[in-house]
Amino acid sequence: MKPEKHAYATLVTNPDYVLGATALVRSLKLTGTAADIVVMHTGGVDAAMLAPLTALGAKLHRADLLPTSDAFNERHSRARIHAEKPFTKGRKPDFHTPLDNFAKLRLWEMEEYERIVFIDADAIVIRNTDRLFAYPEFSAAPNVYESLADFHRMNSGVFVAKPSLATFDAMLARLDAPGAHWPRTDQSFLQDFFPDWHGLPVFDNMLQYVWFALPALWDWKSLRVIHFQYEKPWEADHPKAERLRPLIDLWRAYLTGENIPDIDTLANPSR
Ligand code: UDP
Ligand code: MN
Repeated sequence: MKPEKHAYATLVTNPDYVLGATALVRSLKLTGTAADIVVMHTGGVDAAMLAPLTALGAKLHRADLLPTSDAFNERHSRARIHAEKPFTKGRKPDFHTPLDNFAKLRLWEMEEYERIVFIDADAIVIRNTDRLFAYPEFSAAPNVYESLADFHRMNSGVFVAKPSLATFDAMLARLDAPGAHWPRTDQSFLQDFFPDWHGLPVFDNMLQYVWFALPALWDWKSLRVIHFQYEKPWEADHPKAERLRPLIDLWRAYLTGENIPDIDTLANPSR
């Protein structure tokens, strides 16, 4: 497969996630990848705000929110999602709109790419992950950050997809079927759409809570992607900031491009 048929893609629907994408795009560039880096964006972000991303080498791709029904949008409103299945493990920032997550599915429209590796805007890539372009659809890592039970579910913050309009159309039909409800939005939907999902190592999508909840799993030497699920490293009044300090500092280095450490020299959490 030619490198030009490969892309990393992320999504930004508001200025907060542009901040996340800035650190992500810089981190991807530093891995030396030759693949395109595509930032999917909605009308929620104006062009001037996206300019720093193009300066870092990203391509922009306008991706509007999906044309889902009013009933679907109401069922997946922030208030309903939080009320029906409260987030008990961590806090979702105020700038997180659950409905926006579904716009990720628009990557299946980009048929010019053979494979796309989608990465949430709240992640950084600290070692090259280009081997993922040879992986099948649908590959994702388990949603591990607390216990063995976490292995039942995948996390949709990093996944390998094969763009196809036919797949996209089939997804839209299933997504907004009468009464369809996806309690964890795109993540619930993708796991249902791809029940035989292929498992990636946790090192391709290491969730930040592993740092304090499952420290034995953390290994800087093997790590490729760190994903800041729940609270974001740029959030004010971050309730877990002290416990996650080394990870937040690392994220900030990628945001600014200053003092990015040699990953091999970092110390694992005490076990
Ligand atoms: N996203 C976005 N705007 C939103 C919600 C989500 O742009 O209001 C995008 C962004 O790329 C984000 C991803 O969808 O990283 C998934 O949301 P998030 O990472 O906040 O969820 P978590 O990983 O905490 O479950
Ligand atoms: Mn995320």
